[in-house]
Formats: sequence, C-alpha cells, structure tokens
Amino acid sequence: MADNMLVLVVEDEPRVSRYLRSSLQASGYEVLVAADGVKALELVQGNRPDLILLDLRLPRMHGLEVLENIRKQHEMPIIILTANDTEEDKVKALMLGADDYLTKPFGTRELQARIVAVMRRYKQTEVPVERTTLYQNGDLRIDYTARQVMVGSQSVHLTPTEYRLLVTMAENTNRVLTHDYLLSHVWGAEYSEDVHILRATIWRLRQKVEHDPTNPNYILNEPGVGYRMVKREEIG
Ligand code: CA
Repeated sequence: MADNMLVLVVEDEPRVSRYLRSSLQASGYEVLVAADGVKALELVQGNRPDLILLDLRLPRMHGLEVLENIRKQHEMPIIILTANDTEEDKVKALMLGADDYLTKPFGTRELQARIVAVMRRYKQTEVPVERTTLYQNGDLRIDYTARQVMVGSQSVHLTPTEYRLLVTMAENTNRVLTHDYLLSHVWGAEYSEDVHILRATIWRLRQKVEHDPTNPNYILNEPGVGYRMVKREEIG
C-alpha cells in the first residue's frame, strides 16, 4: 500500500511534524515536510505528492487558502489536521475540497486508517455499471467509459470522491439514499456517522452540476433522511 507513496506533511508545530514524519516513514511512506503555507505550495508544485496532510493554522498562508490553491490544479487526496475548536474551519475545508480530516490529537492507528481509506477511494473510481455506459438525465450526462461528466455542452471536472458520489446517486435515480448508505458506500463503513463530509461533498457537487446550486434540480434533500437524484426530462 505504501509503496513509493510520497506524503507531504504541512504542519508548523515541530513536535507534530516530527511525530508524523517518523510514524509515516515507519509505515514505508516517503515524507516531505513544509512548516508554512507558502512552502507547502512550492513543494506541491515541485514534487506532486500522492497525499497531503494539511494543518489549517499555518504561518504565512492560512491552510484554507493553501487548500483552495492546490485544488485549482490538483486532485490528489488531502486530509486536514484540525483542532477541536475549529469546527467552522473544518466544514469550510471540506467545502473547498478536502477529502477527510483528523482531529488532534490523533494516534498512529487512526492516521493509518484514514490514509488507507482515502487512497482506496481514489483508486476505486470505477463503479461497476450494468449494461449501459452512458447515463443521461435532463442535461446531465455521465460517460462511464471516459469517466466524463457533462452538463449540457460543458465538461465538468470532479474529484474522484465527487465522481463516486454522483455515480452512486445516478445509479439509484429516483430512490432515496440515506446518509448512512451514501457514507458507507462512497467513503467506507467507518464513515457512516460522518454527515459533515457528505454535506460538504454534496455542496461541492451541486456547485458543479446544478444550474442553481441553492435550488437544485437533480440532487434533492430528503430532510432527516438523505438525498435523492431526480429524473428530469431531456432538455432540447
Ligand atoms: Ca498550526
């Protein structure tokens, strides 16, 4: 699993970055460390890490800004490191495209489990599809073979997690899918309680595929239960 995998640790507290470095190296990962946000962006450009562990409170550039910058160009998995008192930042980070979070203090087992889960999701972007290779709903179109999503004539760029979520919803069009089902299916059983991650990813997905994300046409809320992809008539 860890074969030749390069992990970038962005953390300004030496105690935490030392712990992360030794713990990751012991598991066979190659590790780079950046102690501030500007350095982090340089290392991302120069080294294209396979995974990023990103602290949010950083000198020189806030972690949220670092995240936003990385996501403009890269889709590698990003796990943010947060403290318990920064709930709001955590939600913002998820909305900006973070894949997961670890709340400090965390242990080696939890760190490993989150990394393995995130990497597994990134590698499993192909969802088995029966018969058809094309999904069409209104002006939303998924080409499973090309792994391409279109809204009208516009191509939409989705991260692997966003894509998996969209495909899962598409394959169950008109069915209500519970929070628990979506989290277990898209993220993994250990995430079944993590409604924050689901909400943030739905939010991002709507920004990309809905014409009016605040008044969605395709991905509807089922309050207290989950979400439903609605079948729409073909447009023009
Ligand atoms: Ca910090």
